Amino acid sequence: MSRFTVYKEIDIAAAHFLREYHGKCERLHGHNYRIRVYVSADELDSEGMVLDFVQLKELMRELIHERFDHQFLNETPPFDVLNPSSEHLARYCAEELAARLDDGRIRVSECHVWETDTSCAIYRR
Ligand SMILES: [Zn+2]
Repeated sequence: MSRFTVYKEIDIAAAHFLREYHGKCERLHGHNYRIRVYVSADELDSEGMVLDFVQLKELMRELIHERFDHQFLNETPPFDVLNPSSEHLARYCAEELAARLDDGRIRVSECHVWETDTSCAIYRR
C-alpha cells in the first residue's frame, strides 16, 4: 500500500450492449459513466505532489474522454472484441494510463467505473 494516493474523475456518455449476456443489458443502451483513476506513490515530487492534477486530467481527457465519449463502445477497440463491461473498461483505462504515467516513483493503482450511481466496478493493479 502506497503512502500517498490521488484520484481524478471524468464523465463520459457512451452506448453499449453486453455480448453473451441474457438480461436487459444485452440490448443497446447508454450510460453516463463516471471514471475515477487513482495514482499512488511512496515519495512525493519536488513540489510535494504525487503528480499534478492538471497533468492527470489532460491525460484522462486524451486517453479516455476523446476515445470513448459519445461513442458506441462495441465498435470502439478494444471493445469491438472485448465485452464492454465496466470491469473491462476499468482495466483498460488503468492500463492505458499506466503505460504513460508509471515511472518507478508513481503508478496507477486503481480505477473505478460507475455505470450508475449505485453500480461500480473496481480494478486494482
Ligand atoms: Zn450497460
